[in-house]
Amino acid sequence: QTHFLSLSLQAKMSRPVQARRLEGIDKNIWVEFVKLAATYSTVNLGQGFPDFPPPDFLKEAFVRALSGENHMLHQYTRAFGHPPLVKILAQFFGKLLGQDLDPMTNVMVTVGAYQALFCCFQAFVDDGDEVIIIEPFFDCYEPMVKMAGGMPVFVPLRPKAPKDGKLMSSADWQLDPAELASKFSERTKAIVLNSPNNPLGKVFSRGELEVIADLCVKHDVLCISDEVYEWLVYDGKEHIRIASLQGMWDRTVIIGSAGKTFSATGWKVGWTVGPNRLLQHLCTVHQNSVYHCATVAQEAVAQGFQRELKLYGKPESYFVQLPKELQQKRDWLIQSLDAVGMKPIIPEGTYFLVADISEFKSDVPDVPDSDEPYDSRFAKWMVKNKGLAAIPLSAFYCGAHKNNYNHFIRFCFAKEEATLKAANDILQKWKREKTNP
Ligand code: PMP
Repeated sequence: QTHFLSLSLQAKMSRPVQARRLEGIDKNIWVEFVKLAATYSTVNLGQGFPDFPPPDFLKEAFVRALSGENHMLHQYTRAFGHPPLVKILAQFFGKLLGQDLDPMTNVMVTVGAYQALFCCFQAFVDDGDEVIIIEPFFDCYEPMVKMAGGMPVFVPLRPKAPKDGKLMSSADWQLDPAELASKFSERTKAIVLNSPNNPLGKVFSRGELEVIADLCVKHDVLCISDEVYEWLVYDGKEHIRIASLQGMWDRTVIIGSAGKTFSATGWKVGWTVGPNRLLQHLCTVHQNSVYHCATVAQEAVAQGFQRELKLYGKPESYFVQLPKELQQKRDWLIQSLDAVGMKPIIPEGTYFLVADISEFKSDVPDVPDSDEPYDSRFAKWMVKNKGLAAIPLSAFYCGAHKNNYNHFIRFCFAKEEATLKAANDILQKWKREKTNP
């Protein structure tokens, strides 16, 4: 027995098990906060997903695909995208971009926008290449760049308080053009643009996009354009696709998500649209990793887009109805946060809203010298003590900048009226307890 024990000890590896590319990227905010929300929350406005169903036409399309005559929908389909889906995406985005797209070379389907992002970084980023990321950013960009061997270079949106005492808008958070220009160098391979932006809800204006586009052209830099919230734009604002600006089509990959587009995040259908000279390399990553995406879900999403193409711009279109409904939900949440003094930053797009928690600091005192940013401790305290889940804004900043933006939390308002009302009740009660302790 002793002999067996010593053999098994010898067999234990003494060198590190994990590859170097995993160093420093093992923490993930969602794993932590999703677990906290599941354990403690009564109202979850944390992670970004609707708690209402996808539209009936989409669910019906899925059921038809699943139980219809065509049993081949249960088998593998084309690796780079189910033909009906790439065809309708080429037609739809061709119309939006005002150019002919080839379904076989200008579109690739992925497992959600997440895999589309992964393919981009793996396909374009070499050891030591720099990738510019605009803060606050959807958190996975940073570890994905690092895993590819690249160096993320961060540039923050700078908030400017409105003078007239009005509520701040996401439009008040802007890039400083000189600061942005200073981040470009011969090492820059790509910039990640996310408009409408998660978490702020900022919708970049044409002028702002032109500044980014000019720098991309000047420095021969690629643009990875995460447009998953493209339909969720409010107050008559317009979502402008950077690929449509002068010199940008050739250097841009557009990323989209059926999860966000059709309120079906669990289906994990995403896509990339761009020139073949870029997409062919995404195909190489895809064929050597995931290879196929689920056929039935692709078929249903294809039918969803076929319906939307017919109804494009009409009041019955889901892409018209969803933002209308969400704008109302946004306005409810703005009102209820403003009423208790948790100052909301009015989002121009997405289904997220960032709020200032400064007035609630007395309830959750700071711990000097803590490594954890204040907003993170605040969000944990809030879910444990008030049952309301939200995400700290510092999670959307790099390590060096987290403490510059540590008094905001992000709420998701893609929720049923009853959920938003329950959140309002919690906030009102909290406010009353604050005033009459
Ligand atoms: N990009 C952004 C900005 C997102 O917010 C999300 C989802 N939260 C994704 C990409 C990933 O989308 P999917 O669920 O389609 O993978």
